[in-house]
Amino acid sequence: NADAAMYHAKACGRNNFQFFAAAMNTRVREHLELENRLRQALARHELSLHYQPQYDLQSGRLSGCEALMRWHNPELGQVAPDKFIPIAEDSGLILPLGEWALNEACRQVMAWQAQGLPLLSVAVNVSAVQFRHADLAAMVERVLRSSGLPPALLELELTESVLAENLEQVNATLQRLKQLGVRLAMDDFGTGYSSLAYLKHFKLDTLKIDRSFVSDLPGSSDNAALAITIIGMARSLGMTCIAEGIETMAQHDFLRGHGCTHGQGYRLSKPLASAAMAELLATSSRHAATPAVVTAPAA
Ligand code: C2E
Ligand code: MG
Ligand code: MG
Ligand code: MG
Repeated sequence: NADAAMYHAKACGRNNFQFFAAAMNTRVREHLELENRLRQALARHELSLHYQPQYDLQSGRLSGCEALMRWHNPELGQVAPDKFIPIAEDSGLILPLGEWALNEACRQVMAWQAQGLPLLSVAVNVSAVQFRHADLAAMVERVLRSSGLPPALLELELTESVLAENLEQVNATLQRLKQLGVRLAMDDFGTGYSSLAYLKHFKLDTLKIDRSFVSDLPGSSDNAALAITIIGMARSLGMTCIAEGIETMAQHDFLRGHGCTHGQGYRLSKPLASAAMAELLATSSRHAATPAVVTAPAA
């Protein structure tokens, strides 16, 4: 294992440079191998999307879903996004992969509707690399047009690192996206260089409280204070607030009690393959007690 070998090499001092170099090599080779396999993943149909339901915490109703990329390689098995997304970003592969994900998510939502299931909003993660290198707004417009998804049902999840880039270009792209009528969310809020000034300036629609602030609620008084602060901040900026990674009833009740309007997490539902998500949509539209929120815009 490359990490263990490097640790060992460091512990043994610089005489072990050769050993260290060998460990480095292993790591580079692993990275290259993953990259080469990822390069073929699209054409070989190894990618899919799972959908994690998002809920209105007050009513308990389904309010939308987040599309999450999955990669199954015949030899490697399931590869986690935390492993392959950074490689896709470094290699530029995130451009075709990101476009595929956006297209697939929009297409899927419209396919569910065509099957008689309720229209549902969908959130899609967008990498900072897509902001930097591609004409993101043109790509989004193209996908909206070809899928027919009403723009208001699409939410793009950005990370704070996007706002640390070339601000003029980011500003222009964000304005164009807003003009298209899509919603914009700040993902993993609180983990990066959050600037309150940017949040206010860009008028994003949704703030997603990172799971690290949720994980030890309500026991940790620090995180409790932070979560309450973020919820209040979202409210005063007129933003929707979604808590990520809700795993326990105690977390759920704490967040709801402090006015967090929306949530997602294993306690509510794990990310679901599209067939399972369709079943959930079917049951939530059948039972009046937990109807899916169907808010197609007055187009
Ligand atoms: P994210 O956008 O913050 O997505 C939430 C992650 O938390 C997902 O991990 C989800 O499965 C996981 N999660 C949800 N509820 C819980 C919970 O209760 N407990 C715990 N421990 N985890 C929970 P996943 O699917 O492994 O994705 C990891 C990250 O990879 C995502 O974080 C996102 O940054 C990135 N990613 C995934 N799909 C895409 C994509 O299509 N494009 C881009 N650019 N990034 C993606
Ligand atoms: Mg996300
Ligand atoms: Mg997140
Ligand atoms: Mg994340």
